Amino acid sequence: MRKIMVDLQLCMGCNSCEIACAVQHSQSGDLFEALKEPVLPGYRLRVRASYGMPFPLRCEQCEDAPCIDACKSGAMARDPETASVQIDEDKCVGGWMCVMVCPFGAVFPDMERGKAVKCDLCRGHERPACVDACPTKALSYVEPDEFAARYMRAEAAKTSTEAE
Ligand code: SF4
Repeated sequence: MRKIMVDLQLCMGCNSCEIACAVQHSQSGDLFEALKEPVLPGYRLRVRASYGMPFPLRCEQCEDAPCIDACKSGAMARDPETASVQIDEDKCVGGWMCVMVCPFGAVFPDMERGKAVKCDLCRGHERPACVDACPTKALSYVEPDEFAARYMRAEAAKTSTEAE
């Protein structure tokens, strides 16, 4: 399945991905209108820093997802069509077990609404909004194997340029 992959060498920590995510998940779908909504839209990926380097935290869509096992209300489940991990907000009771067990810290509690939120890959849209919003192309929506091959090709090209 396609996932949101990150090239950390390209991330400059501008937070454009967070904003695009929040706007995509707002009621209006518009940045300025979203700021007037009674409940501000939450973003489903977060840019954090690790050793001074920006790091976009987003759901890894684990094959063996601990959040699905931990959710006793059945709200967290695998989408049979895309194989992505999705939350049914109507079923979420805000127990935060998914938040606690996610090894990547990629499930967030929305305290205002009492619902867990995570990346849904912008379900219903062709591509996740964060990917299109990233000015440096640090984010891509691809199969992990394709991402790895592209990364290896780029590294090989860099090495051959340096050797010349
Ligand atoms: S938009 Fe791209 S460069 Fe900016 S913080 Fe997000 S991943 Fe990093």
